[in-house]
Amino acid sequence: QEKDSGQVEFLQAAREVLTSLEPTVSKHPDFVKAKIYERIAVPDRAILFKVPWVDDSGEVQVNRGFRIQFNNAIGPYKGGLRFHPSVNIGIIKFLGFEQIFKNSLTTLPMGGAKGGSDFDPKGKSDGEVMRFCQAFMRELYRHIGPDTDVPAGDIGVGAREIGYLYGYYLKIVNQNASVLTGKGLEYGGSLIRPEATGYGSVYFASEMLGTRKQEIAAKTAAVSGSGNVAQYTVEKLIQLGAKPITLSDSNGTIVDESGITAEKLAYVLDLKNYRRGRISEYAAKFNVPFFANKSPWDVIKEQNLKVDLAFPSSHENEIEAAHAEAMVKNGCFCVSEGANMPTTLDAVDIFLEKNVLYGPGKAANAGGVAVSGLEMSQNAMRLTWSREEVDQRLQGIMKNIHQSCLEASEAYGAKGNYVVGANIAGFLKVAKAMLAYGIV
Ligand code: NDP
Repeated sequence: QEKDSGQVEFLQAAREVLTSLEPTVSKHPDFVKAKIYERIAVPDRAILFKVPWVDDSGEVQVNRGFRIQFNNAIGPYKGGLRFHPSVNIGIIKFLGFEQIFKNSLTTLPMGGAKGGSDFDPKGKSDGEVMRFCQAFMRELYRHIGPDTDVPAGDIGVGAREIGYLYGYYLKIVNQNASVLTGKGLEYGGSLIRPEATGYGSVYFASEMLGTRKQEIAAKTAAVSGSGNVAQYTVEKLIQLGAKPITLSDSNGTIVDESGITAEKLAYVLDLKNYRRGRISEYAAKFNVPFFANKSPWDVIKEQNLKVDLAFPSSHENEIEAAHAEAMVKNGCFCVSEGANMPTTLDAVDIFLEKNVLYGPGKAANAGGVAVSGLEMSQNAMRLTWSREEVDQRLQGIMKNIHQSCLEASEAYGAKGNYVVGANIAGFLKVAKAMLAYGIV
């Protein structure tokens, strides 16, 4: 703890994981002897680099670049790149640490990593984003490879950024290799990858609801964010007959109580992915209320908005204890985390105490990295699976993750607690591999 002081988000994630691993200690004295618990919390390596680039006015800009390769015991390092001004080493370490367990849960051979930069793509021209991505790859290329480390997207890194990053890698390395996932369909991407995290989070919610003989259809849902994860969460909710009623961005939240329809979602995709506009424009276009500088969880708390399901799909720590109390009071009984660690530890305790079906991010949002793993398999085989085939595999993986969480929670005395289940199920495979390697 002392050595990582100041890395608030990392300490929060490490505390959550290590606390829920406590029941494994007495059953695995070999892990204790080999100091697996201490070793898993230290990254294999952290690469920090400068990213100098030139903006449209000819001025030189400098950003910080990060790639933290946390653990490759069960496969090549794998995890997204985040471009956001809040990015620092503590945030990248928390995300990389979580990724170890998430990737293990998918059952695919992938280690854990994360990277990114404090660069803010918002308000930048396409040319500026391209020059930044090229400068970022100018350093990153020497640390990645199809069998070493395969980054993907995250906040601020979508199809456009992956295209620029991959195009520059190809130019300087001259190898058409599977070094990034989330690629365009024309150059090695997988069908369903853009949809995977959002779809997966709804599939996970559906599995949780099944344990109480309930289903997604006819439920009212709050979704936060309006980026990649939020967009496809809403799409799957609509397809399964639910009524999603909120979307947000860093400027505020729209509430559409009549329900966001497929037509309205098409408007959001164009607004966010091509026009790069703000979600407040939805309010003006469809004549619904906009709550400036509020999250959907603030609106539930302040307006007593009733919802059955919640899909936090924006950023870490967006749901605090007072939000959790208000959500339960207003009928919310199932939370499936599309975002990474969107719920504070206090708020998680409230959901667990109140018997809310609570799916933590490392299980509920693992569909994205799972389909990234399938993209790597397709690249290695040099073939492309159909939309139906990838979607079926995704559904199968989400079902299996849900089942392993439930089984691990039961085996370790916390039946139905998906936090304990996800952490233990993800941990055991990695820990056994680390043990097999000896002290390295
Ligand atoms: P995007 O960049 O596509 O969208 C992020 C959305 O969240 C935007 O609407 C953004 O608003 C909003 N947002 C981000 N930070 C803040 C903030 N500090 N305050 C308020 N709003 C904020 O990212 P993704 O959809 O890809 O990622 C969302 C979450 O899902 C993240 O936690 C990510 O780690 C997680 N995740 C993503 C996966 C993926 O496959 N993409 C896989 C697994 C997890 P604005 O545009 O105003 O910034």
